[in-house]
Formats: sequence, structure tokens, C-alpha cells
Amino acid sequence: MMEDLPTPEPLVLLSAIEHYAYCPRQCALIHVEQGYADNVYTVRGKHAHERVHQDHAADPESDQVMRGLGLYSDRLGLIGKADLVEMRAEGPYPVEYKVGRVHRAPAELQLCAQALCLEEMLGRPVPRGAIYRIAARTRREVAFTAALRQRTLETIETVRDLLRRSYVPPPAKNERLCRRCSLRDTCLPQVVREEARLRGFQSALYRIQDKSELREG
Ligand code: SF4
Repeated sequence: MMEDLPTPEPLVLLSAIEHYAYCPRQCALIHVEQGYADNVYTVRGKHAHERVHQDHAADPESDQVMRGLGLYSDRLGLIGKADLVEMRAEGPYPVEYKVGRVHRAPAELQLCAQALCLEEMLGRPVPRGAIYRIAARTRREVAFTAALRQRTLETIETVRDLLRRSYVPPPAKNERLCRRCSLRDTCLPQVVREEARLRGFQSALYRIQDKSELREG
């Protein structure tokens, strides 16, 4: 009789870390339900990332730069790509390109996950990297502190758990996040929030009243 093989653990895409930190439901709609959709922001982003190859944003003091470098970590089950990696004396230095407004925490987690991959792949410490805002042509340096590394590891495992369970969380509580989200038409956050609200009313309506409530009625 053939033994049942263990189910392989799902790989986490580097982009899923940023999606999860922005909105867990967005991460699930893209990476569990494959429901990706473009909007004006994502199209701008794609064009900008394609231009990374001709861009001259790299630090001229770097010995070497690698663009569109494939990344992986066997230890953490991660896979993805770095826009740009500068090879500096202190170690590899990943640079993530962003279009428009940068959501700081999600972008830093994604960049830190790139650093964890580079450390495993190249066997060298990666102490710092940068987020490059294309429109403003400015860089903001990010130090990969112990606290940021810990948050990144926790997010990776949370995303993997979501993928393992094929779980789609409820809409984000912060409705402002939905304004720029390309998945609004798939997600229908207002409808789902309204349904949850109605379910709450229904359960309150049909709940068996305790004696005190009956007396008050
Ligand atoms: S529309 Fe809002 S709740 Fe839905 S995936 Fe986007 S950000 Fe999340």
C-alpha cells in the first residue's frame, strides 16, 4: 500500500507579504483566489518596474548592480524578485521601486524579506536597503533591525497559514485603504461589510432572550 505523502508547505511570494500587510483580504483575493485586477495605480506600477532596467537610480559607488534578480529562501519558503540589488563593500543592498504613495510598513516588510533571501543565497549579511520613489526620484534607507526582521518572519508565517487554509479574511476596517485598491470590484467591501452587519442584527433578533430581557419586554 502506498504511503500518503505529506502535503508540501505553500511557498510565499515576496509580493504577498506587502499585500498582506496592506490588507489581509487583498492578499487572499490575489494569492488564494487568483483574483488579481489592474487599476490605474497597478498599471503605472508595472510600467515603472519595466523601466527599472533602463533607470539610472543605482548608487554610482556600487561595484555592481543586478536588476530583476530572482530571489528565494529554502529555509523560509520564499520566492520572488528584487528590482535592484547593489553590491556594496558592506554587503548586498536591495532597492525596491515604488510608484505613487508608499505605504511604509508593508513596503519595509517586503524589502526585509528580500534581505533575508539575499543573506541565504549569497551567505553575506544584508544590513540595509532602500525604497525608491520613482516620481520623486528619492530614496529612503531602511535598516533591517532585529525588530523589523521579527515582524517580517511573523508576517511570512501568517501569510503561509492563510494560503494553507485558503482563508479569505473579511474586508479591512480602514475603508480608506479600499479607495486605491484594484480589487474593489472583486472584493465588494461595502456589500460584505453590510452582510456582516445584517448577520449581526439577525443573530441578535433570533437570540433566545434570557429571563431579564423577557421581563423587560
Ligand atoms: S477593497 Fe478594501 S477590503 Fe477589499 S481587498 Fe481592497 S483594501 Fe482590502
